[in-house]
Amino acid sequence: METYDVVIIGAGHNGLVCAAYLLKAGYRVLLLEKRSVPGGAATTEEVLPEDAPGFKFNLCAIDHEFIHLGPVVEELELAKYGLEYLFCDPVVFCPHPDGKYFLGHRSVEKTCAEIARYSPRDAERYAQFTQYWQQVLNAMSPMFNAPPKSIIDIAGNYNLKKIRDLVSVVGSPIKTLDLIRTMLNSAEDVVNEWFDSEFLKAPLARLAAELGAPPSQKMLGIGMIMMAMRHNPGMARPKGGTGALVQALLNLVKTLGGVILTDQQVKQVLIDDGRAVGVRTANGKEYRATKGVISNIDAQRVFLHLLNPAEVDAADPTLREHLERRIVNNNETILKIDLAMSEPLKFEQYNHRDEYLIGSVLIADSVRHVEKSHTDPSQGIIPDDDPSMYVVQPTMLDPSMAPDGKHTVWIEFFAPYKIAGLEGTGKHGTGWTDEIKNQVADRCIDKLAQYAPNVKRSTIARRVESPAELGERLGAVNGNYYHIDMTLDQMIFFRPLPEIANYKTPIEGLFLTGAGTHPGGSISGMPGRNCARVFLHTQQPVTQRLRDAKESVQSTISSLFRRS
Ligand SMILES: Cc1cc2nc3c(=O)[nH]c(=O)nc-3n(C[C@H](O)[C@H](O)[C@H](O)COP(=O)(O)OP(=O)(O)OC[C@H]3O[C@@H](n4cnc5c(N)ncnc54)[C@H](O)[C@@H]3O)c2cc1C
Repeated sequence: METYDVVIIGAGHNGLVCAAYLLKAGYRVLLLEKRSVPGGAATTEEVLPEDAPGFKFNLCAIDHEFIHLGPVVEELELAKYGLEYLFCDPVVFCPHPDGKYFLGHRSVEKTCAEIARYSPRDAERYAQFTQYWQQVLNAMSPMFNAPPKSIIDIAGNYNLKKIRDLVSVVGSPIKTLDLIRTMLNSAEDVVNEWFDSEFLKAPLARLAAELGAPPSQKMLGIGMIMMAMRHNPGMARPKGGTGALVQALLNLVKTLGGVILTDQQVKQVLIDDGRAVGVRTANGKEYRATKGVISNIDAQRVFLHLLNPAEVDAADPTLREHLERRIVNNNETILKIDLAMSEPLKFEQYNHRDEYLIGSVLIADSVRHVEKSHTDPSQGIIPDDDPSMYVVQPTMLDPSMAPDGKHTVWIEFFAPYKIAGLEGTGKHGTGWTDEIKNQVADRCIDKLAQYAPNVKRSTIARRVESPAELGERLGAVNGNYYHIDMTLDQMIFFRPLPEIANYKTPIEGLFLTGAGTHPGGSISGMPGRNCARVFLHTQQPVTQRLRDAKESVQSTISSLFRRS
């Protein structure tokens, strides 16, 4: 039987980040990945080799913002392993049915100038709004980059600029109360408080709702950081696609002696005397872990599918029930459309400029339109009578992703995992069939054609992945690409549940990382890095504590000399 210090279940980007930190600390690490391609929801693949050879598609994540709020890329020196980020500018284009459009640049000033063409008041407010949300972001990001229960780690992440921003948002009782009030609000409440114009409110609501909930959902005002981040630190894509981030991590992990085995689905976590000591895969092979097993898949999957109930109950008699009944994982996921194109989209009625296609294109006609795109899926309804979409033409920023002069289009459409009324039919009893997914995709393309009429005649080939197929590929419960919902009741100290919110579990030697842990889904690498820190603490509590304290002091001193 092969023996390692640590076995990681799943080679998503968080599993790989976690592995890299552990390998750097001298541990022997094995990653077991169920697919033939590592990366989870962060892969780039040539999925239409016959109809569209040479076209590379980001099957899931495309726009990277959160990773630039943390130190992973620099600490792991991923540039040395082949990662190059291309920053988007402009960052977002949202054509409005009345002929207006929102064009967000990386520069706040330039964005305000675009808004001022239609509403000088909203342009002025936008500058104040962005400044406020960037302060909130700076005040909060130190918490993202530390285990939620580690005060030393969190404190060490504050530099002077971040302390100043913290003071500016909570520096007096009124400011603190106002921040709390804002956080209790919904994204819709916040945009209504600040702005008049629908052409501006709708894209802000659509971006906020990328957290996976409708704009009216209370306590998700925090969604406003989604646009603030596009200004600073900015929105970027790895050259060659999101898979290039994974490739750089793979290069690093292999260079450090890590082992990655693909087509290895873990079926069982092995427990000996209450301690996780290894795993068994679907083909019956066992791998031993002398120091720990780390799961890149979420707590529900690990505790309810990969462990015997009696073993879980022996460690915590209420955990299984809490995982079954307390975890919120609504019915919303994504129907994904990828197009191979002979030419770029043309937004003819909007004075087409190719720069519209550098960032993301939002089809979001109003806040109501965005609202329906989220509330319908939660009821099992497909909101395809008037689809709202997130569309990207990745090849405009990075032509290397398609043959010369050709393009790709990436479309995200929120859809139910289970279709109401069709339960028990279709793939995995979700109701989804090839016929239904293609009908929905046709409606999405019809809607996009209202803005970019050339989309149909320029399509060479297309791939449509239904929510049921996406869920199967990722192995995620209900196709949830954030593993569990990103609502406030499941964030920070509550993610995924209070009793397992710090990457450790009641089973000795079993740890959690990935999107289902703090600070949550998206491309950030933060859960992977934070989990590695917690693991190292359990192995070398004194050494690691001293190292953290030293880093805190160094960070505070160096912040005296740097601006941000
Ligand atoms: C269509 C789509 C678009 C998205 N767009 C963006 C975006 O633009 N920007 C952004 O920041 N985020 C985006 N996301 C979200 C983001 O991709 C994910 O939240 C993130 O990639 C999760 O990473 P992870 O490593 O935590 O988990 P995952 O990527 O889910 O990795 C888990 C890994 O475990 C493997 N696995 C599962 N079960 C087993 C098992 N039993 N044994 C072995 N291996 C197993 C899986 O195959 C997978 O490789 C998008 C997601 C989707 C679906």
